Amino acid sequence: MKIAPATLSKFAKLGIVTPFDLVLHLPLRYEDETRITRIADLTPGVSAQVEGEIIHSEVMFRPRRSLVCQLQDDSGILYLRFLNFYPSQQKQLAVGKKIRALGEPRMGFFGDEMVHPKCRNTGESTPLKQALTPVYPTTAGLPQLTLTKHIHAALNELQLDDTLPEPIRQRLRLPEFEPSVKLLHQPPPDTDEDALLARAHPAWMRIKFDELLAQQLSMRVHYRERSRRVAPKLGAHNKLTDGLLKDLPFALTGAQKKVWHEISADLSRPHPMQRLLQGDVGSGKTVVAALAALQAIENGYQAAFMAPTEILAEQHYLKLRDWLAPLGIEPVWLSGSLKKKDKTAAAERIASGDTQLAIGTHALFQTSVEFKKLGLVIVDEQHKFGVQQRLALRGKGTTLLPPVRGKAGMGVGMESLTDSTPALHGGGSSEPHQLMMSATPIPRTLAMSYYADLDVSVIDELPPGRTPIVTKLVNDARREEVFERVRVACLEGRQAYWVCPLIDESEALQLQTALETHTTLTQIFPELRIGLAHGKLSSAEKAQTMAAFKAGELQLLVATTVIEVGVDVPNASLMVIDHAERMGLAQLHQLRGRVGRGAAESMCVLLFQNPLSELARARLKIIYENTDGFEIAQQDLRLRGPGELLGARQSGVPMLRFADLGEDDKLLDKARDIADEMLRDFPESAQAHLQRWMANKPDYLRT
Ligand code: ADP
Ligand code: MG
Repeated sequence: MKIAPATLSKFAKLGIVTPFDLVLHLPLRYEDETRITRIADLTPGVSAQVEGEIIHSEVMFRPRRSLVCQLQDDSGILYLRFLNFYPSQQKQLAVGKKIRALGEPRMGFFGDEMVHPKCRNTGESTPLKQALTPVYPTTAGLPQLTLTKHIHAALNELQLDDTLPEPIRQRLRLPEFEPSVKLLHQPPPDTDEDALLARAHPAWMRIKFDELLAQQLSMRVHYRERSRRVAPKLGAHNKLTDGLLKDLPFALTGAQKKVWHEISADLSRPHPMQRLLQGDVGSGKTVVAALAALQAIENGYQAAFMAPTEILAEQHYLKLRDWLAPLGIEPVWLSGSLKKKDKTAAAERIASGDTQLAIGTHALFQTSVEFKKLGLVIVDEQHKFGVQQRLALRGKGTTLLPPVRGKAGMGVGMESLTDSTPALHGGGSSEPHQLMMSATPIPRTLAMSYYADLDVSVIDELPPGRTPIVTKLVNDARREEVFERVRVACLEGRQAYWVCPLIDESEALQLQTALETHTTLTQIFPELRIGLAHGKLSSAEKAQTMAAFKAGELQLLVATTVIEVGVDVPNASLMVIDHAERMGLAQLHQLRGRVGRGAAESMCVLLFQNPLSELARARLKIIYENTDGFEIAQQDLRLRGPGELLGARQSGVPMLRFADLGEDDKLLDKARDIADEMLRDFPESAQAHLQRWMANKPDYLRT
C-alpha cells in the first residue's frame, strides 16, 4: 500500500520505519463494538455501546455551553453530552437519527449520561464489528483510522511466517507468530480483555518471547563473533606480575585471585577479551587492573587505563606509579589540563612506544593519541558510561561511533565520551583486549540481557580487616548533632567527607551550594583544616586538594559528587551526605563506599529533609537496610526499571518494548537457552528472526 509522505513523517515520530514496525505497533487498549448493551443494563464506569434513536437534542448553556441529546432504546433513555462540538455533530445527532454510541456511562446532572461518546449513525442492519476495536498510541495529526488501515494492510501484505522452529515452538507451548499478532490487533469478541491489557495473554507471551529472543541472539552472535577476531596473545610470563604481588603490602583475597586467573587466561588467547570485572565498592579492583596491565607489558605491548573523572584517573596514576616504580615502569599521565607542550610530549612517548602504560580520562584518548602497540584497554567505573557507549566501544575494534547527543546520564564532573574518538587501534587488523570494571552491580536479568555479549568476573569478597559501615538516617532538624560527630572524628585523628546537596537543575546553583557549605562549615569548625572539591576546579586544584586530603593535611573534605567514584582514602571514616533524599541509590551506595576502607569503625550519615517523596523514602529505606551492592541494584531495578538504571533512555539505546525485565525473567531464561540452541541447530531460523526484529535497528545492535 502506498503511504503518503505526510503520513510517513508521522509514522517516524512513532518509531515506525518499516512495514514490520506497523505490525509491532500494538494497541494500547480496545473498544468493544462487537455488542450492544441495553440502556437499562448499563453499569456506571463500565464502557459499553448502546443503540437507539435521538429523541431530543438541544444546546444548553448551564452549567456551561454544551450539546445535550437524549438517546432512547426500548429499555430507557440515556443523555449524551458534548462540551465541544461541531455543527456537523449537531446534524449527526438531530432528532430522529438512529445512532450507536460508545462510552463510559456515569450518573450525570440529568440522569445516566455519557460525556463525549464515540457516535456513529446506523441504518436498519448495520453489522456489529467482528473484533474488538484497537486503540493505538498515535501522534497529533494521525487519526486512529488511518493508522488502523495501514496496520491492517501490513498484516495482510507481509510474510509473517514463523521464525521459531516448530519443535521449539511446541516445546515452549507458544502460539504461532502470525495468529498472535493478528489477535493482538483484532481480538475476537470472546478474548480475555484483562489478559490482553495485562500483557499476560498467550499472544503477548509470544511477542515478548520473540523480542527477548532477538536480543539474546544478537548478543550471542556478537559474543561468538569475537572468537573470529584477532587480538595479541599476551601470555602469562609472571615476571612483572609476580614482582608486583611480591611488593604489595597485602595478599590478594581468594576472590581477587580467582578473577585474576580468569583475566590472565583471557589475555593469553588470540581473541579479544571483553570482560566485565564486577566487585563492590572497595573490593580491590584496581590491583587486578594493574596486574592485567603488567601482563600486557611483559609481552611487549602497551596498556591504556581510563577512568571517568579526572580525580579518579589521577588517583590511579599516583597509585600505579608507586606500585610500578620498583619494576622500572613509569606510567604516563594524560590530563586535559596538561600544557599543550606536555600533552604533545606525552602523546609522543605513547606513539613511539617509549611508554608502556597510559593513564587518563576517556576524553583524553583522542584521535591525536596513537598507540604504537596497544594490547589492553582498561575502563574503570564502566557503568558511568551507559550501555550505548559500551556497545559503541565494542563495535569495530574500539573506535567510537558518531557522537551521542547531550551529557544526559553522566554525573557531575563527568567528562563526556561524546566528542572524543579514541584511536585505540593496536595497528593492523588485531585489536586490543578490553577489561571493563564496575562497582555498580548489575541485577541478574540486566546482566543476562544487555550485558550478554560480555564475560563477567565477580569479586565477591572484601579484603580482610574492614569494619562494617554504620549507616544513620538523620533528620535535618538534628544537623547540630552531626556537626558534633564530624568534630569528634576529626579531632580523634580521623577524616571526614561532607557531600553537598545534589542540584540537578543547575550546575551554577550546585557550585554555589558547595561554596556556601564550605563557608558555613569553616565557620562552624574554626579548629579544623577544611578543603573543597567540586567539578569547576581546575584539574591541578582538584589534584592538590585530593593529595592534601590523602596526606591528612586536610581533615574535612567538602565535596560535590565528584568524589562519587573510586576515591580511596582509608583514614576517612565519616561520610555525611547532605540532602541524601535527592540522590539515587547507586550514587548513595558509591558515596558510602568512600568510607569503611580502613580498620577504623566508619559511619555514613544520611541527612534528609522532610517532606520526603515516596520514591525518596523508598530509596533511603533500601540504602539503610542493605549494604550488599547486588541487593541494592536489584531493588533499584524494581524501583526504577531498566531504562533509568542503564542510563540509556536519553541516549537512545533501543530498550525492550514489550518484555519487562522485572516480570518476565522466566521468559528471559528461556530465550537465552533457545538462542543458543537455535544458533547451533537452526542457524537459518536464527538469521530470519534477527532479520525480522533487528533489520532497522542502529548499527550497534545489528550483528
Ligand atoms: P575498588 O574495587 O572499589 O576499586 P580499590 O581497588 O580502590 O577498590 O581498593 C580499595 C582499597 O583496598 C585500596 O586501598 C586497596 O589498596 C586495598 N586492597 C585491595 N586489595 C586488598 C587486599 N587483598 N587486602 C587488603 N587491602 C586491599
Ligand atoms: Mg575503583
